Amino acid sequence: MKKKIYLNSCLIALFAIIITCVLTLVVCYQAFDMQTQRDLKSDGKYVASALNNLSSNEEFLSTISRLDSRITLVAQDGTVLFDNEADYSQMGNHIDRPEIIKAFQDGESEDVRVSETLGSQTFYYALRLDDNSVLRMAKTTSSVFGAFVNIFPIIVLIAVVVFLLVLFVTRHLTRRLVAPINNIDLHSPQSDSAVYDELAPLIHRITMQNKQISEQIYQMQQRQAEFHIITENMTEGLILLDQNMTVLSANKSAIKMLDAMSGEYSGKNLIVLTRNLDILDGVRTALSGRHHDRVIDLNGTKCQIFANPVYEAGKVSGIVLFLLDVSEREKAEAIRREFSANVSHELKTPLTSISGYAELMENGMVQKNDIPVFAAKIHKEATRLITLVQDIIKISQLDENDISLPKEKISLSKIAKNVLDTLETQLKEKNIHASIEGSAPIIHAVPQLIHELLFNLCDNAIKYNNPGGSLTIRLGQQNGEAVCSVSDDGIGIEQEHLDRIFERFYRVDKSHSRATGGTGLGLSIVKHIAEYHGGRVTVQSRKNAGTMITVYFPLA
Ligand code: ADP
Repeated sequence: MKKKIYLNSCLIALFAIIITCVLTLVVCYQAFDMQTQRDLKSDGKYVASALNNLSSNEEFLSTISRLDSRITLVAQDGTVLFDNEADYSQMGNHIDRPEIIKAFQDGESEDVRVSETLGSQTFYYALRLDDNSVLRMAKTTSSVFGAFVNIFPIIVLIAVVVFLLVLFVTRHLTRRLVAPINNIDLHSPQSDSAVYDELAPLIHRITMQNKQISEQIYQMQQRQAEFHIITENMTEGLILLDQNMTVLSANKSAIKMLDAMSGEYSGKNLIVLTRNLDILDGVRTALSGRHHDRVIDLNGTKCQIFANPVYEAGKVSGIVLFLLDVSEREKAEAIRREFSANVSHELKTPLTSISGYAELMENGMVQKNDIPVFAAKIHKEATRLITLVQDIIKISQLDENDISLPKEKISLSKIAKNVLDTLETQLKEKNIHASIEGSAPIIHAVPQLIHELLFNLCDNAIKYNNPGGSLTIRLGQQNGEAVCSVSDDGIGIEQEHLDRIFERFYRVDKSHSRATGGTGLGLSIVKHIAEYHGGRVTVQSRKNAGTMITVYFPLA
C-alpha cells in the first residue's frame, strides 16, 4: 500500500510538474508577447508623432536608430526611404507588404509573421504619417517553440530538482500517512484512537471478525476436545489416515491394541504404528474404495478390523480404521457352540436310555417282574431329562437377562432356612448335620433366584459329602458386602479343577455327578445368579477335606 501511494503520488507530482512548466511557459510567453506588442505600438506612436512634427526627419531617424526595434520608412509608392538595420537603398519595394497596404488604407495596422524555421516571429506595427509615407516598426522575438527550445534545459533542471524534492517529501508523507494503519493492533483494533475516522467501519468490521474468528476457534477447540475425549475414552481403536496412509489421528486404545509404544503418531506413516500385514492389506483394500471387515489375530487377541474409505469429491481422500477387540465375543461364541454341543449330548444320553428300556419292554424282552424296575429307570432318566431341560432354560434366561421376576428386600437367613427344609430328606438320607451361622444381611434380590442359588450349593454340599458329614451356611457382612458361604467336609475338589467348576457341564467326576442326578449346570447357574445381582462367587476346596463356596452380594 505504502509503495502504491508513493508511486502514485510521484506520478501525480511528475505530471503536475510537466503540466505546470508547460502552462507557465505558455502564459509567460503570451504576457511577454503582448507586452512586446504594446511597447512596439507605443514606440511607433512616439516616433510617428516626432516625425510628423520635426522638420529634419533624417537627423531624428539616425538618432533613434539605436532602438532595439527595427524602424522602416516607406514612401507612398512603396520605396523604402529609411531602415535602421539594413541598407535601404538595396531593399525592394514594400508596397505589397500586408501591414504597409493596410496602413495606407486605414492609417494604422499590425501584423505577425512567423519565420519558416519556427524559431522566431516578427511583430509589425505600421502608421501612416502626415506626409503620406508609412512608418513601420518591427520587433523579432522567439516563437513559442523557439522560446521553449531556449529554456528547455532550465525547465528540465527545475523539474528534476522539484521532482527530487517531491520524492523526498512524498516518501516522508507516505510513511506518516501509512504509519497509523500499520500500527493498528489487529487483535484489539478499537483501542487505537489515533487511527483515521475513515477507517472506523473497517476497524469495526475487523473487531467483529476477530470476535467471530475467536468464537469459531473456540467452537473448533471444543469440538476437537470432545472428539479427543470421546476417542481417547473409547475401548475400540480408531485410526484416521489420509490417502498416503499417513496417520491423522490414532487413539490410545488403537496404540495399545497394536502394542505400539505410546506417543504421538500423527503425521507418521501407518507402518510406524503397525506392521501387521492383515491391517495393511485392509487399509489398501479401503484405499481402492472397498469396505474391509475381518477378524484377525492381533497380539494374542481376536480383533475385528473395519477399514472404510472416506470420499471427497468422488475420490478416496482417507481411511477410517476401526479396531474392535472381539476376544470376549469370540470366547462367548465358542462357549455357546460348546454349550449347544454339550446340550445335545446331555439330552441324548437319557433319551437313549429311555428309548432302550422302552424298546426292551416293547419287544417283550423284560420279564413281568422286572417291569417296575425298568419303569423306575425310565422314570429316573425322564426326571433327569426334565431337570436338565429346566436347568438349560434357567441358564438361557440368565444368559439373556430374561428374568421377569421382581427384586425385593430379602433376608438371606430366611431363604437359607427354607432351602435346608426343602433338602431335609436328602440330609437325612446321608445323615448330614446342617447348620446356619451368623446374622442375616438384607439384600435386594429376586427371592426365587437366591433360593435356587442356595439350593444348588447345599445340594452339592450334600451330594459331594461323606455320610455323617456336615453342612454349614454362614451369613454375614464384610467390607460393605453381604457374604453367604456354604461349606462341607466332603470329598473336596482337586486344585486343578477349581478354575473350571463354574463352566457349563463341567464335572470333576462325571459318573459321580450322573449317579447323583447332577447336570453339570448347578454351579454355572449359581455364578449367573450371583452376577445377575451384581455379586461374585469364590471357591476354596481341598481334596478329601471339604469345600467352601462363598457368594458376595451388594447390600440392600
Ligand atoms: P453337578 O450337577 O455335576 O453337581 P455342578 O455345576 O453343580 O454340577 O458342579 C460342578 C462340579 O463341581 C461337580 O460335578 C462336582 O464335581 C464339583 N463340585 C461342586 N460342588 C462340590 C462340592 N461341594 N464338593 C465337591 N465337589 C463339588
